[in-house]
Amino acid sequence: MRVLVSVDMEGVAGVAAPEDVTPGQPHYDRNCGYMTDEASAAVRGVRAHDPEASVVVVDAHADFRNIVPDRLARGCTLLRGAPRPLSMLTGVDRDVDAVCFIGYHGRAGTAASVLAHTMSGATVARIRCNGEELGELGLNAALAVHYGAVPVLATGDDTLVREASSVVPGMATVEVKRAVGNRAAESLHPDEACARIEAAVQTALQHPSPSNGPPFSGSVDLEMDLLRPRMTEYAAMIPGVELRGPTTVGYQAADFPAAYNLIEVITTLAGSG
Ligand SMILES: [Zn+2]
Repeated sequence: MRVLVSVDMEGVAGVAAPEDVTPGQPHYDRNCGYMTDEASAAVRGVRAHDPEASVVVVDAHADFRNIVPDRLARGCTLLRGAPRPLSMLTGVDRDVDAVCFIGYHGRAGTAASVLAHTMSGATVARIRCNGEELGELGLNAALAVHYGAVPVLATGDDTLVREASSVVPGMATVEVKRAVGNRAAESLHPDEACARIEAAVQTALQHPSPSNGPPFSGSVDLEMDLLRPRMTEYAAMIPGVELRGPTTVGYQAADFPAAYNLIEVITTLAGSG
């Protein structure tokens, strides 16, 4: 089987503040180690289920260069660097059977949720697809489902776990910390978090739920609320993107992956202004 492990950083055990996940800040390097260890735990869980499995770990935080290559478990490949198509799930279009979401976080606007945001806290207020508001977990689960891959496990704080149960019912989850606020958490020991992730991945692959996730077939109406009118003006210069409000742009995408890729383009462009 082929498994993709997408790894973000805000939902990793021990992480609570923006500085914790920002290159150059005091604890960033240490937290990259924790992020790498949680990815390794997922890899071990996959290989315990199927020693022959092909596993790709996809670095999915910020500039996609956080995981420490020589600290990562053997028995997988590591995909890092940007830009790239299908950003947080690059490669999911290549016969992937199952996807694990490690270190994920609550969507923008979630109350008392550790570092909650959707794609970029500096530019994006909200994202809707066919009117349904989705965070990163929902967007990536929908992308996985589009390509026939089963979302099997999500890990993060308790708010991410609750979001998972509504957006991907039946998907296994691991709560590695309890959100005390947007920048405060009560966390498991990193080793304990890893032990639970490894066990949960193995169990989830043994008893896979049906391919859940927000289903989008055919064209998708993408709507993004950005934080400032200036960002919206940039985005509206992209052919086909229309201004729908002072800080809202819309686009009729041919299919879900087209909408997903455009989110990345708009987020990057809006953030450059
Ligand atoms: Zn992130």
